[in-house]
Amino acid sequence: MKLATIGVGNAGSKLIDQMIEFEVETGRNLCRHALIINTARTDLAKPENIPEDRRVLMGDTHRKARGHGVGGDAEIGAEVAKTDIDEIRRVFDDVEIHEVDAVLVAAGLGGGTGSGAAPVVIDEIQKMYDEPVYGLGVLPGKYEGGRPALNAARSLQSFVNKVDNFIAFDNDAWRSRGQTIEQGYEEMNEELATRIVTLLAAGEVDESEVGENAMDSSDIMRTLDTGGVSSIGYASTELAPAKQGLLSKFNDEDQSEDESTDAAKIKGLVRRAVNSRLTVPCEVSSADRALIVFAGPPEAISRKGVESAREWLESAADTVDVLAGDDPRPGSSTLAAVVLLSNVTETPRIDEIQNQAVDAQNKIREQDAVREEEIQSLITDDDNDLDPIV
Ligand code: GDP
Repeated sequence: MKLATIGVGNAGSKLIDQMIEFEVETGRNLCRHALIINTARTDLAKPENIPEDRRVLMGDTHRKARGHGVGGDAEIGAEVAKTDIDEIRRVFDDVEIHEVDAVLVAAGLGGGTGSGAAPVVIDEIQKMYDEPVYGLGVLPGKYEGGRPALNAARSLQSFVNKVDNFIAFDNDAWRSRGQTIEQGYEEMNEELATRIVTLLAAGEVDESEVGENAMDSSDIMRTLDTGGVSSIGYASTELAPAKQGLLSKFNDEDQSEDESTDAAKIKGLVRRAVNSRLTVPCEVSSADRALIVFAGPPEAISRKGVESAREWLESAADTVDVLAGDDPRPGSSTLAAVVLLSNVTETPRIDEIQNQAVDAQNKIREQDAVREEEIQSLITDDDNDLDPIV
């Protein structure tokens, strides 16, 4: 697939930057256009793989932003994006939309800029183009507290209502002990970029190498066409150097034994992808559609294995809509399986965030009311004898 990618806010921009790094490292070609948008000048300078003229600072004249961010306030994030929408639209005008299949908008949902501004940006893109728009959103960890949960729960509603599919990543599930927050984020961003690029870059292989089993971009788009929230699983294995010795090729028994071991490995890889950490933990059987991409050297992808892996996923995800295809990467020393579970409806973490958000909203309202009373009692004399001047 070919994408126009837009990172909004700090996490969103870092994710797009990391995706480009991974695709360059692995010789893929997914992100045809990259754009980052932020309210904080310092965060806008951080990414390493985004051209200077593709970085947009918004709200630099807004009295509550002024180039320093929006302090985690998603309402201000949305307001700033609405005010500066003409400027944002002008930058989109440079995107050769006919060159891409879809637009991907990434953001961290717990902050102010990504959670508030990204839905405004998505509205504008939906108005300008017919191409599908996918969201890539990071859910805040529980440890971050009530305000990020409230931003995320509200922004998730806007995102999911506006995009064609929302791919979620849960910081809580991916947090490791003994790391600083920044180290943790770096590792998480690498993990997420590996999954998203391996999945979406399939279907972009050299025409001369396309075999009949190659995944097509339209298959990926069809699987994402469900709306709702999606999760991605991934597993990879290092391949042993190619077996030497022509003799074994002539020995039918050995060959069929090899084939069944290869088939079992492929199926095992897919089971591992689904049973290990998903980008957002979910009930696999609640998926509406699923898709598997095998990325690796063509000779390592056993047809028998692909078929039994597909059948296994069909039963685990309890859906007949399971597609499987290859992303042939000749000469690669790894074989990866990436599994897209599209429109999963049972994700406990999202319920948790909503509960945390409702508590936070009630507490904020109570505190606001109490504070108003306290201010009035502070500035009013005991018998209320005094009046304000004007
Ligand atoms: P914004 O710039 O106002 O949108 O805020 P940030 O993007 O800095 O942070 C928003 C949320 O994204 C935070 O609450 C974190 O949950 C998350 N976050 C921030 N940076 C990263 C990152 O590099 N990786 C990941 N996975 N999450 C991040």
